[in-house]
Amino acid sequence: MLTIRLAAIFVLTSIACRAQDSIRVRSAAEDLERVRELVAVGAAPRHQLELAEEKLQEAKQAQSLDTLLFSQVKIEELTESQAKEMVEAATGFVDREKLRLDQALKMVENGLRPKHSLEPFEDNLTRANHTLGLAKSRASLVQELVAIVMAEKEAAEHPAEPETPKGPKPVFEKFDGKMAFSTAELKQVMLAYEKRFSSPLPISARGETAVHKALGYDHRGRVDVGLKPDGEQGLWLRHYLEVAKIPYFAFRKWVPGQATAPHIHIGPPSTRLVAD
Ligand SMILES: [Zn+2]
Repeated sequence: MLTIRLAAIFVLTSIACRAQDSIRVRSAAEDLERVRELVAVGAAPRHQLELAEEKLQEAKQAQSLDTLLFSQVKIEELTESQAKEMVEAATGFVDREKLRLDQALKMVENGLRPKHSLEPFEDNLTRANHTLGLAKSRASLVQELVAIVMAEKEAAEHPAEPETPKGPKPVFEKFDGKMAFSTAELKQVMLAYEKRFSSPLPISARGETAVHKALGYDHRGRVDVGLKPDGEQGLWLRHYLEVAKIPYFAFRKWVPGQATAPHIHIGPPSTRLVAD
């Protein structure tokens, strides 16, 4: 019976502990395995198992944050599910620090600890909240990219409605240009924009991104700029592209039921990636 149990533990630990895991995760997984064995033979209380599981979860969340938030990985390299994992990991830290502060507070209220002993717990909670803020703002950039890709997907599937003189402007407009767009031209656009507006061109996606790839779109050689097509900057950019005969798509407001995100896509339309 014990052999079967130990075999099961080995499988579980192998799944939990992958080759790319950090030392902290590996050591927490090993600890969990050890505690599980002790609990199985009645040599340790069940409560120890919960603590070891909690420690492994904390180590995994720390690893997620190290990999996805603190390692300077580019937004273009993050997928939607990684963004979700990052926010969940940061939320886990906030919840844990809140609980620790609550427990410490109870001890202070019961006169078991001095009031100033709360300071490190409060500092940890502040840090965890700060990390959660960073994770959320990074995840919102990924969400913006998802909305941009979905808008382009819908545009590719549904041809533009003709513009009517009195009606609203179409959801998207395209300018065919010469159907080619080079890196040198992008540099010129960026320089001209910066000279005109004293701020960098707000590029949301440059070339292929993990989000495009995950949603099956080839965005190589294309650039998305987070500008409203009818705002001052958007109109300037469109005029510049038309004069330079650079193709673009201008995406307007959000429309109910459609994931349109206002932006200007420079270059030919994205094509569907062909599965290997
Ligand atoms: Zn695009």
